[in-house]
Amino acid sequence: TKQWQLASRPVGEPTHDNFELVTVDRPEPGHGEVLVETLYQSVDPYMRGRMRDAESYADPWNVGEPMKAGIVGEVLESNADDIAAGDIVTGDGLWAEHAAIDADDLRTVDPELGPVSTALGVLGMPGATAYFGLLEVGQPKPGDTVVVSAAAGAVGSVVGQLARINGARVVGTAGSDEKIDWLTDDLGFDAAINYKETDDLGSAVAEACPGGVDVYFDNVGGEITDAVWPLLNEHARVPVCGQIALYNATELPTGPRKLTKLIETRARVEGILVRDYVGRWGEAFERLSRFIQNDELHYRENVVEGLENAPDAFLGLFEGDNIGKQLVKVGDH
Ligand code: NDP
Repeated sequence: TKQWQLASRPVGEPTHDNFELVTVDRPEPGHGEVLVETLYQSVDPYMRGRMRDAESYADPWNVGEPMKAGIVGEVLESNADDIAAGDIVTGDGLWAEHAAIDADDLRTVDPELGPVSTALGVLGMPGATAYFGLLEVGQPKPGDTVVVSAAAGAVGSVVGQLARINGARVVGTAGSDEKIDWLTDDLGFDAAINYKETDDLGSAVAEACPGGVDVYFDNVGGEITDAVWPLLNEHARVPVCGQIALYNATELPTGPRKLTKLIETRARVEGILVRDYVGRWGEAFERLSRFIQNDELHYRENVVEGLENAPDAFLGLFEGDNIGKQLVKVGDH
């Protein structure tokens, strides 16, 4: 069976040389474990952090070892009481065709409720991130202006729509005209800015937010944060979810700039980590699936076919190749 291992640690942007596809014996599930055949593997921006040998909220991966990933798969063999062969499960797996996984790290997915791949996207970790990051930390109120960066991605697209459902005016930033059209024509954003085609981002955001910004859901950091910052209103909330613009940086940028803005506005900047809410993810999935059923919440998936193409899918996140949740289709069931 095939699996990807970390071949070397990237410096700056990751390259194909950092990954190695190896053939190994199919694992035997131990006590309390199940053997899972991967159907879908997730690639996520946080994985860039795991490739680095630095202290973070998650342990780094070791060179020469398999890389971890959220997966959806079919159980082939089970040594656990509450999971049976044939079940579809999701949880912490590997960049691999097969993995032996502790049943405590898995939950079953009901294929009747919708495409099983959504357990890695809108009804999975990114959906929960959007839900708790926006509603608990951002706390949008009707009439607020909410700005979200990487708005056409897995987290951002859900944030924007939840803000709209909560009665806010929603503005997104994203990196292509196709994404901008999706945000405004399909997802109901009030305005969207293609930051790659905009010379003066500060003016573009100001024009899109004539009443200032009450919630800035930050997925990106860097220049987009600099552009939004001067527009923060009194008592604005800034959930800091991701800083993807900086993940490949080899030196830390200067900043954050102009913290006096926080004195002026008494705005609150707060980090959000989806793991903190893990006991409540079910609540998020229940509400998000209801919004999907009622056609209030739309989602997209960008599926790369084949485990051998998983590094391309991952590297594409940093190029903005994905609209919606980026997945790798590894197997069929
Ligand atoms: P996305 O689906 O949003 O994919 C990443 C997107 O980021 C790309 O499509 C691209 O879109 C944008 N991007 C990439 N590089 C840059 C850059 N240099 N400048 C601006 N935009 C860039 O990923 P997710 O939805 O999974 O994650 C979004 C963010 O949320 C990430 O920062 C991630 O680390 C974070 N996150 C945090 C969690 C937490 O618990 N704190 C949990 C999950 C995610 P574009 O075309 O717009 O450039």
